Amino acid sequence: MNVQLSSAFATGGVFIGNHWKAAQSGRTLDVVSPADGAPFAKIAAGGKADIDEAVATARRASEEGPWPRMTATERGRLLSKLAVAIELRTDELTALEARDTGKPLKQARADIVAAARYFEFYGGAADKLHGETIPFLNGYFVPTERVPFGVTAHIIPWNYPAQMFGRTIAPALAVGNTTVIKPAEEACLTPLRFAELAASVGFPDGVINIVPGLGEEAGAALANHPGIDFISFTGSPEVGTLIQTAAAKNHIGCTLELGGKSPHVLFSDADLEVAIPVIVNTVVQNAGQTCSAGSRLLIEKSAYDKVVAGIQEKFKTLRAGTPEMDLDLGPVISANQKKRVEGFFERATGNGVPILAEGAIADNVPAGGYFVAPRIYGPVPRTNELATQEVFGPVLSILPFEDEADAVRLANGTDFGLMAGVWSRNGSRALRVARQVKAGQVYINAYGAGGGIELPFGGMKKSGHGREKGFEALYEFSTLKTMIIKHG
Ligand code: ADP
Repeated sequence: MNVQLSSAFATGGVFIGNHWKAAQSGRTLDVVSPADGAPFAKIAAGGKADIDEAVATARRASEEGPWPRMTATERGRLLSKLAVAIELRTDELTALEARDTGKPLKQARADIVAAARYFEFYGGAADKLHGETIPFLNGYFVPTERVPFGVTAHIIPWNYPAQMFGRTIAPALAVGNTTVIKPAEEACLTPLRFAELAASVGFPDGVINIVPGLGEEAGAALANHPGIDFISFTGSPEVGTLIQTAAAKNHIGCTLELGGKSPHVLFSDADLEVAIPVIVNTVVQNAGQTCSAGSRLLIEKSAYDKVVAGIQEKFKTLRAGTPEMDLDLGPVISANQKKRVEGFFERATGNGVPILAEGAIADNVPAGGYFVAPRIYGPVPRTNELATQEVFGPVLSILPFEDEADAVRLANGTDFGLMAGVWSRNGSRALRVARQVKAGQVYINAYGAGGGIELPFGGMKKSGHGREKGFEALYEFSTLKTMIIKHG
C-alpha cells in the first residue's frame, strides 16, 4: 500500500492557525500500524502549552476573524469545498486511514466517502438554520436566533478518525464556531490531513486547530481549559466522566457519546436472508470497534436453533487480514485492545460460556499484527459480562428470549442505550417493540444503513447525551439568543 507521508502532518506537527509546528515540548509519538505492529510515522505529543496556544488562536479567530461574521452561505460554501477536496483525494486518504487504523481498504474507503459527505451535508445545511418569532405583549417583536458558542473543543476516538472529524467538526463550523481538536493518539492521520486540506481550500486562520497527543496530557488540558465554550466527546465511559466533570467546573455544556451494547431483537418471522448478513456485518465491521456495533443478538426461542445455524454458517467464513487483503475485518487497533478482547475470551471460557462459531485469521498476516479471530458466544447467561459490557472487538453474544415482553426487557437490560435493531415481518409488532426500546436510534429490518449522516445519533442512559449527525447537530453546536424589541 503506497502511503505518501511527505507532508508535515505525518512527521510530528501540531496544526495551529493554519501552520504546522513542532509541539512546544519537542516530543513526538510513534504511529504504529495495527497490521504489523511496526511504527511508520510520527505525530506530535502535544501538551498543555500547545493547547493553550490552540485555544488562544481559536479565540482570536472567533472574536476578530471573519468566520463567525461571514454569511452562513459563505461558510457553507467553504465546507462544500472541503468536501470536494476530500473526495478528489479519496484514494490517498483511503490508504492513509487503512494504514493508520488497520481496517480493510473497502471499509476505509467508505469512511472517507462518509467524511466528505459530512462536509457536503453541513455545507448545504449551514444557511438553513433559522430562529423563530415568539408572540408576546402588544408592542413587542421577539425573534430568536441560533448563534455559535464561540470556541468548541472536540476530543475524538481512534476507531473512525476520518468520519469522527467530519461528524463533529462540520456542524460546529457550519454554525460559526472556531474549533480545537484533540484526536486520538492511536490513529489520527486523516484528521491532521483534513485540517491541512481545509487551509488549502481557504478556511481562515484559527478556525480549525488540531493538537494530537496523549489523552491525559493534551486531552485533559483541552477539556479543562477555561477558554473553551463547549466540548464534544466520543470515547470511553471512564473518560466521559472526566470530561463532564471538567465541563461542569467551567460551567459549559458537552455532548458525550460513550458506546453501547446494542441489541438486535429478532423474531421468528424475520426475513433471515436479509437479517443474517446485516447482523454479522454490524459486529465485524471495523473489527467490532464501533460504538453502535450490534453486539447482542436476541432471538425468539422458537427460532433459536435455525437462526443460530444461519449465523454460524456465515461466521465460519469470516477472515481477518491486512488492509490490502481487504477481507471481512482487519486487526484491532493495538496490543492493548487485543489483550482486552482476549481477556473477555479467557473469562468466558472460565465461566463456561459456549463458543458457537469462530472465523479465522488469514494465513499470511504479519506476525506483529493485532489480529483477533471473530467469535460468537451463546447462549450467554443474562448477567454475564458478554451480555452487559462493551467488548469493542469482533464478538457477538447470542441470547434467547421468550416473548415480546421478555424481548423488550432484555433489550433494555444493560446500562447502555445507543442503538437497536428489530427484525420481524409483523410490522405492528416490530413498531411496538421498537418504540419501547430505550436507544437513540432504532432500526426496523435494517441496521446502520448508509452511514447515517442525516440521522441524529447519540445515546440514552449511560451511552451519553446530546446528538450529533443530522440537522439536530446544528442545534447541539449552537445556542439560542432571544431579542425582545419594544416598538410601541
Ligand atoms: P478508547 O477506550 O476508545 O481509547 P478513550 O476515552 O480512552 O477511549 O479515548 C477517547 C479520546 O479521549 C482520545 O482522543 C483520548 O486521547 C482522549 N482521552 C483519554 N484520556 C483523556 C483524559 N483524561 N482527558 C481528556 N481526554 C482523554
